Amino acid sequence: MASIDTLAGRAEQIRAHVAEAAKHSGRSAEAVTIVAVSKTVSAEMVRAAFNLGFSTFGENRVQEARVKIEALPLPGIRWELIGHLQTNKAVRAAELFQRIQSVDSLRLAEALNSAAGSEERVLPILLEVNVAGETSKSGFAPDELMHAATALTRLASLRPEGLMTIAPLTEDSEQIRPVFRQLGSLRDQLRQRRLPGMDDCWGELSMGMSNDFEVAIEEGATIVRIGRALFGERTSLEH
Ligand SMILES: *Cc1c(COP(=O)(O)O)cnc(C)c1O
Repeated sequence: MASIDTLAGRAEQIRAHVAEAAKHSGRSAEAVTIVAVSKTVSAEMVRAAFNLGFSTFGENRVQEARVKIEALPLPGIRWELIGHLQTNKAVRAAELFQRIQSVDSLRLAEALNSAAGSEERVLPILLEVNVAGETSKSGFAPDELMHAATALTRLASLRPEGLMTIAPLTEDSEQIRPVFRQLGSLRDQLRQRRLPGMDDCWGELSMGMSNDFEVAIEEGATIVRIGRALFGERTSLEH
């Protein structure tokens, strides 16, 4: 795990790489949101990252996130869930997170919709897509996506803001690029379908992590989720 002292240097490097990749895709660095993935990272480190200008943090477990969220009531801080969510934790998650990136089934979407609805909120979500069809990963298959998006038109307390994917684990960026490109084209198809009430939806493409965020940005990512490159290697094997 990186120390607080090395955080500023890492942050600067990441920002420079994000800006460079954005330029390659003809966009400005501001078009790409960096979600600092703080799973396993202490509240103290999160606070240090916040002070360096990171305002959105990604967590993959509800309970771990809850402890940090309560410890860090900082103005403007945002928390997004990026890990698989069990339906029975939907109420808790809807209360804690500003956005759920990892909606991977209609059952979960329905549970989040009723949780948000009972608080009279509209909860922003992303649909997770298992682009490469890996059995180890959750997410909608590409050919299930249109059906899922159509079903979401009934769920008025959710706002589907876009798609999220996790690329296959490989060092070979040219194997990863087609996965990101396909997520972008799935997003374009969803927009073209012009589903009722969803004109402003589907803008976001959350793709790219420490290993592959530059390729993701070149392929149109609007959100990258960066953990290790910012906070250092995680020691926990569970995440
Ligand atoms: C852990 C995680 C990340 C961050 O991965 P790094 O390799 O640490 O950048 C991004 N997205 C998801 C869904 C994750 O679980």
